[in-house]
Amino acid sequence: MPAADLQDPALYGATLEIDLAALRTNYRRILTELDGTPSAVVCKADGYGLGSEKAARAFWDAGARVFFVAQPAEAIRLRESLPLEAEIHVLNGAPPGAERAFRDNRLIPVLNALGDIERWRGYCRDRETPLPCDIHVDTGMLRLGLPPGELARIEADPGLVDGLDVRLVISHLACADELGHAKNTEQLAAFRQARQVLPMGRACFANSSGCFLGPDYRFDLGRPGVALYGVNPRPEGPNPMSPVVRLTARILQVRRVDAPETVGYGASYRVGNPARIATVPVGYADGYLRSISNRGHAMLAGHEVPVVGRVSMDLTTFDVSGVPEELAQPGAEVELLGSAVTADDLAAAAGTIGYEILTSLGSRYRRVYVG
Ligand SMILES: *Cc1c(COP(=O)(O)O)cnc(C)c1O
Repeated sequence: MPAADLQDPALYGATLEIDLAALRTNYRRILTELDGTPSAVVCKADGYGLGSEKAARAFWDAGARVFFVAQPAEAIRLRESLPLEAEIHVLNGAPPGAERAFRDNRLIPVLNALGDIERWRGYCRDRETPLPCDIHVDTGMLRLGLPPGELARIEADPGLVDGLDVRLVISHLACADELGHAKNTEQLAAFRQARQVLPMGRACFANSSGCFLGPDYRFDLGRPGVALYGVNPRPEGPNPMSPVVRLTARILQVRRVDAPETVGYGASYRVGNPARIATVPVGYADGYLRSISNRGHAMLAGHEVPVVGRVSMDLTTFDVSGVPEELAQPGAEVELLGSAVTADDLAAAAGTIGYEILTSLGSRYRRVYVG
């Protein structure tokens, strides 16, 4: 069977549309916010679930030249879809034995500990070439990066970082999405101190929300991820970013309910009055999280339709009683994600964050790139 058959839209009940023009707009929006400071882009986790090759290419077209992913294998895949001048940085660093792949694919490891630094220096020394790298200083995340004690050792013995070609010195904010959080200023002060010890290369600090914390947080290079993909980096205010994803599905079946009945697994929702329930072919296996059960809503012909009953693996049921009957028929298009129901909205319903909604989007959709 030719794979081309899989392109036939008739085979799919749901379509995930990804707007590449919106990705470019969002990159420019970040640059505007940074007011002259350049910005890298984070494309980890397959471009926050939206397709890292397409996304990275869109950012490249909008002028991005510095790219971050989390894992070496992600970086090798990305290398193939970007021009050689693109800098690809790997947040999780180069595991022992991966140094050669980094060199061959021109990948830049983020060195997260003194041990990483020693190993990379050793590798470079053996080859008599200082290969590019970054140094990550932990300023309060306690996740990755040089802890204060290791930074102090470098301060006492600067020779520990001799012979390295350090491109970026980075750190990562824990609470950037909370404007007045004391942790932000603490981390800022710690990062400035770290720059006294490690003044080489460019300083790169702000994630998406950090880019909106003002000039002090910009340093030499922004490092946003989620905002580029349309999630609100300033949760207290209106979203300055453009929506990137649109998820639509066609109603499979509409069930009339004339007497009180329950819907779905666990009989968790009781339909009282005469009602109409529409079943849509998207479920938790597609990243429409089970925690949306009885909480989220979608749009049908301009009407909000609530999720009723539990989201199951392949299907979700909506109460469409409020929609004129002729508009709520099998084949009608329900919008599960878009400008009316954003990833942030769905996340709020599910008790999670927009990041998780995007990175959970499944592989069964017909994926369409527009713009
Ligand atoms: C994921 C990540 C980013 C991007 O963060 P967003 O909140 O998505 O903007 C930046 N830096 C590091 C170290 C990360 O892990």
